[in-house]
Amino acid sequence: MPNVAFLGLGAIGAPMARHLAAPEFTLAVWNRTAAKAAAFAAQHEKEKVRAASTPADAARGADVVVTCLPTSHEVEALLDGPDGLLAGMATGAALVDCTSGDPATSRRIAERLAERGIGFLDAPVSGGVAGAEIGTLTVMVGGDAALLERVRPVIEAFGEKIVHCGPAGAGHALKAVNQALLAVHIWSLGEGMVALARAGVSPAVALEVINASSGRSNSSMNLFPQRVLSRAFPRTFRLALLDKDIGIAARALRELKVPSPLIQLTAELIAAAHRELGEEADHVEAVKVIERQAGAEIR
Ligand code: NDP
Repeated sequence: MPNVAFLGLGAIGAPMARHLAAPEFTLAVWNRTAAKAAAFAAQHEKEKVRAASTPADAARGADVVVTCLPTSHEVEALLDGPDGLLAGMATGAALVDCTSGDPATSRRIAERLAERGIGFLDAPVSGGVAGAEIGTLTVMVGGDAALLERVRPVIEAFGEKIVHCGPAGAGHALKAVNQALLAVHIWSLGEGMVALARAGVSPAVALEVINASSGRSNSSMNLFPQRVLSRAFPRTFRLALLDKDIGIAARALRELKVPSPLIQLTAELIAAAHRELGEEADHVEAVKVIERQAGAEIR
């Protein structure tokens, strides 16, 4: 029965952790806002989930520590000090970082942990809060393939498609590119749909045709019908996080010297939308910026 620690009970972290509150695991949770960890443990009293007081306390005795924080910066900051993860993690344990982080920081974390005989996998997820709730996330993993096999039962609790992508940082690189594509699709579809609304085409008709044609995407098939046309704009994945993600992709592409005008421009547009709409806006609300600029709504 693996001892697992889960750190970061945010919008996606909490539903992921819920799958680990199960008879197959012994689970400790930690969250910066301690009340969330206490509430989580209280909800899972039957499964004997323990709310830890510090990262070190959560990691003590854990075979696998899972982190799901906003950026790699927060993960790295959790390592050190008397309350840090390294004060609690034992040789032979593994850190599985489900944050959508950045490859360079992940490689640095992997090297530091390796010095202490601790394994590291970058293991960002996709599939959204809905996928986390039903345990069908896609998990893209960077790091040692043998270590992935060892910790697979833990990842399988919340992941359905688990893919080894390459060495440390590879999962985070792939996730960043995926997120850049998401941003490009949302933004370009937003522009196109506003233009079609202006041209007198009903948005429902526009999506019906696009979704039966080659321009379709997850944005046209799911996000726009469920969130934009309905004007529901539920807050499941913050625009601030998409800004962070496409920023990671844009920087990686520049460092790799890949000409990337489209992704660089979209990163700037998403950053400006983030500044305009604030920290709590959902990623799909970026469309509102296009609507405001055009003076027309997609409805
Ligand atoms: P949220 O903003 O909802 O939650 C962030 C979590 O990180 C909270 O538990 C928060 O604690 C904690 N946190 C924030 N800052 C710090 C800090 N300085 N030190 C310690 N803990 C901190 O984010 P999500 O759960 O939505 O996202 C988490 C990661 O998963 C991100 O990298 C995101 O890009 C990725 N992701 C999210 C998806 C989604 O649909 N939401 C989908 C796929 C990936 P507190 O409660 O105290 O604020």
